[in-house]
Amino acid sequence: MGLNSIKFTLRFYQDESCYKYLSDIKWENGYTCKKCSNSGFCSGVKPHSRRCVKCGYDESPTSGTMFDKCKIPLHIAFHIVFRVCTKKKGMSSLELSSEFEQRQMTCWEFKWKVQQAMKSSLKYPLFGEVHVDECYIGGEESQKQGRSKGKKKLVVVALEKLPFEGVGRAYAQIITDASNVSFRPFFEEHISKDANVVTDEWPGYTPLKKDYPNLKQIPSNNGKNHPDMHIHIMNLKGWIRGIHHHCSKERFQGYLDEYHFRYNRRNNMDTIFDTLLNRMVMYSPKRLYTVI
Ligand SMILES: [Zn+2]
Repeated sequence: MGLNSIKFTLRFYQDESCYKYLSDIKWENGYTCKKCSNSGFCSGVKPHSRRCVKCGYDESPTSGTMFDKCKIPLHIAFHIVFRVCTKKKGMSSLELSSEFEQRQMTCWEFKWKVQQAMKSSLKYPLFGEVHVDECYIGGEESQKQGRSKGKKKLVVVALEKLPFEGVGRAYAQIITDASNVSFRPFFEEHISKDANVVTDEWPGYTPLKKDYPNLKQIPSNNGKNHPDMHIHIMNLKGWIRGIHHHCSKERFQGYLDEYHFRYNRRNNMDTIFDTLLNRMVMYSPKRLYTVI
């Protein structure tokens, strides 16, 4: 599925084609009954559901996926996923609510599922030259009435520098403080051990040199020594500023994941919807909720 919204609308104008799409992903590698492991099936009750010929268990394409018990009609849920991943800045639950005529809370809940599917698979850590920096985001910038500094969130950001020019992928994570202990899990999840990591001279990074032998610390000079990182953080902050409601630590991480899911695929937009949909089918919502 590419980026063409007319083609998308023509293909997914009703639930039927969405069930077909989900069923194709779900049973891509063949069907096995969840109850008795039998591989023979016939058509079930719901569209594109499969019924085991041995035990009679009927499984719908949505069961066990993030579309299970979805309060939004399936084709509208598909459109929401499409818009959230293909629009450059995504869409807020308020915008989704007015565009698709669904309750804002329903959109908000569904978007949370989409955001969880946007979480990094952790399969492709950053490599080559990787710049790391931390910054405060949110708080009074996005809370017009609140003045509490406590609402600002400390975020660590890693950004790949390409060998000749430009930048590659990036990740960001909310952390409790700028200590070595807080940085470490982020490094381990998102940065290859042999990467040429560049940070400023903050001592919190120094102990990481043990596991990241190529880590270099150079003076920040107010961000001037790391212009690409500076721009990345400015853009991220600008986008986050558009989120007007207060959000919990988990939800805030969801926004960081959403931003970077799109950012890291800005050159692969043709497959972005399929990638996301695949995850929404394959990732059990239960598993994701317990991770957060
Ligand atoms: Zn069975």
